[in-house]
Amino acid sequence: MSARRPTPHAGWSQSAQFRSVARVAIRAYNATRHTLPKCEAVRRTDGGLCQQIAMGNGRCYLHGGRTPKGKDWHKPQPGATATKTQRKLKDIERAAKKRAKRLDAMTLDERKRYEDWRKTHRPGPRATERAKRAQAREARERLAEMDRPAPQTAEAQALAAVIETLRHQAQQLKAAQDTATTNLTDGIFG
Ligand SMILES: [Zn+2]
Repeated sequence: MSARRPTPHAGWSQSAQFRSVARVAIRAYNATRHTLPKCEAVRRTDGGLCQQIAMGNGRCYLHGGRTPKGKDWHKPQPGATATKTQRKLKDIERAAKKRAKRLDAMTLDERKRYEDWRKTHRPGPRATERAKRAQAREARERLAEMDRPAPQTAEAQALAAVIETLRHQAQQLKAAQDTATTNLTDGIFG
């Protein structure tokens, strides 16, 4: 990661020191203003040249902004994507190299401790990890709750007993019917 500039203290932008720094900077800028390249887009009002201070692409912020030329004209282009992405990739690469160097320099014992630490510490913010664990815990609890049989009320138990009796009676009836049918066939063909 590239080093970040330290954040100035609160109220810094209102301080006398900030004002003096800002004054020097704006004076220096104003002194060179006339030498900076100008936008040469044609003005719609009178056909003259735009003359605003140009950005890196030779046009001002009005004429050379985020909308590219050609077939991609309708696609919004986030500012300076390529350079930003490249910088991030470079940062990642640099960090990886640094890590590899540190790992190479480790003794076997240190290396083992590092590997053990990695097993218990996944990359990413701790808060995310904590939230994930909490979610998993809640899911487990809910599943356990679903598996647990519901406590039976006296009414439900009574109903279950009635159902059991009826089922028993139905079985008896069916058996009786079967016997009757068998007797009947025996009667005809036996
Ligand atoms: Zn312009």
